[in-house]
Amino acid sequence: MPLLDVKIYGEEVLRKHSEPITKVTSELVALAKDMLETMYEAGGCGLAAPQIGKNIRLVVIDTTRPDEEEPNPYIMFNPEWEVESDSEDVEYEEGCLSIPEIWCNVKRPGKVVVRYTDEYGDPKEIHDCIGLFARCIQHEYDHLEGKLFVDFISSADHALNQLKLRKMAKKA
Ligand SMILES: [Zn+2]
Repeated sequence: MPLLDVKIYGEEVLRKHSEPITKVTSELVALAKDMLETMYEAGGCGLAAPQIGKNIRLVVIDTTRPDEEEPNPYIMFNPEWEVESDSEDVEYEEGCLSIPEIWCNVKRPGKVVVRYTDEYGDPKEIHDCIGLFARCIQHEYDHLEGKLFVDFISSADHALNQLKLRKMAKKA
């Protein structure tokens, strides 16, 4: 399976709203598998379609630790999430394959429910997603809305990383 080219901060495709997927086709499933391969190769735990240059509502996630656990990949078409009623906000360091070498704290709801269509075209709902999985769902969903984690970092962190971001955007 071919590895895909990951788009970097500054590329327009990362800032666009992505379109819903009306039918899960074998081509889309093959694309999702290539995205997983690309994500594993880059050492990431999530990848959204805009990051490989396609503005469609598809994300892939696997938050298992590569050398310690069996892989547990999720392919999510048209994902939506909501905060669970007993959720508390959590601050945690985030990075992004499209924004290399920058890691900053982002505050997000700690417990969510996610709804999506899986690779067989079946609707799925997972309650009480927590930890890295909950964070990843929200981070990847943001990509589908054209948002990036650096939009949510503190102004101090933004100031610290401004030069790196500007350089990245210039190369894109
Ligand atoms: Zn990202």
